Amino acid sequence: MAKKFKDPAEVVPLKIRKCPICGKPAKRVYQPFCSDHCADVDLGRWLNEGYRIPTNEAPGELADDDTGDEDGVPGKR
Ligand SMILES: [Zn+2]
Repeated sequence: MAKKFKDPAEVVPLKIRKCPICGKPAKRVYQPFCSDHCADVDLGRWLNEGYRIPTNEAPGELADDDTGDEDGVPGKR
């Protein structure tokens, strides 16, 4: 029983990435983010963009959705 996944080269990144949200050095547990908060923020962005892109519906119906009536990120601005 030899596990090949124990190779440290696959676990340790070549260089530390910066958090795309706040720019701080990312931690391995939250890669590529620095914290659970930033990871959550990025996830929220992806979800928002996912909702923004219409797939089968006419884009005209969701045109007035830019005022921010969602309460997903309260008081972020
Ligand atoms: Zn961050």
